[in-house]
Amino acid sequence: MRIDLLTLFPTMCEAVLGESIIGRARKAGYVTIECHDIRAFSKDKHRHVDDYPYGGGVGMIMQPGPIFDCFADLCGHLRARPHLVYLTPQGKRFNQQTALRFSQLDNLCLLCGHYEGVDERVLTEIVDEEISLGDFVLTGGELPALCVADAVARLLPGVLAGEESWREESIASGLLEYPQYTRPPVYHGKAVPEVLLGGHHAHIMDFRREAALTRTVSRRPDLLETAELTKKDQIFLRALSEKQKRATAGT
Ligand code: SAM
Repeated sequence: MRIDLLTLFPTMCEAVLGESIIGRARKAGYVTIECHDIRAFSKDKHRHVDDYPYGGGVGMIMQPGPIFDCFADLCGHLRARPHLVYLTPQGKRFNQQTALRFSQLDNLCLLCGHYEGVDERVLTEIVDEEISLGDFVLTGGELPALCVADAVARLLPGVLAGEESWREESIASGLLEYPQYTRPPVYHGKAVPEVLLGGHHAHIMDFRREAALTRTVSRRPDLLETAELTKKDQIFLRALSEKQKRATAGT
């Protein structure tokens, strides 16, 4: 798969994408990620890419020309039209399902806005989808685009050790993940749960499943509405709920 970022700050993006798991995955060829400088397509002698908003108001707006030309150049180079996503707080909230959907594309292109955003004609003419990272406003689309690129790339074959690395994690599994421990067995007087040291696989699996269910009930009960639950899970959840009711009644 190939992911392209259209940005005014390619060096900022490269700094992140060259490191750690994604950096190694790029070098190994499991994913291609390229950053393109929108400013290189400015026709202005001062390389301006933004201008004042018609009708007045604060801030500057990214002009359509350099963005159109940058995208057209990419399409010409790829001999294909990638799915173009604009990162914006006005978009649909990004989640694991969207990451999975994007990971099945051959070409994904992420457009990073800046200032007060981009000229509306870019959105109506070439953008296929608008995606938000959440209900907050950042100064630019680079950080959200990097989050999307990271979340998508780690789902591609070869990037992580195996599919189970992400399938069993929080959200992707339908629940939050169980608590994890590593050496030492006792730290600051707190011991690792005995069952994890015993080496009994079935007991460890039961402990982890129950811990994941308990954590999901307390932090993200909404996930239980769509999670795939076994009969055993349902029995455990009923018992947990009864226990919680008794504890509340007792206080
Ligand atoms: N004036 C815009 C509005 O009210 O919708 C906000 C512009 S914001 C200051 C600048 C750029 O940051 C946006 O064009 C977008 O690319 C990016 N951005 C900011 N917050 C974001 C979010 N929550 N999710 C995705 N992109 C975001």
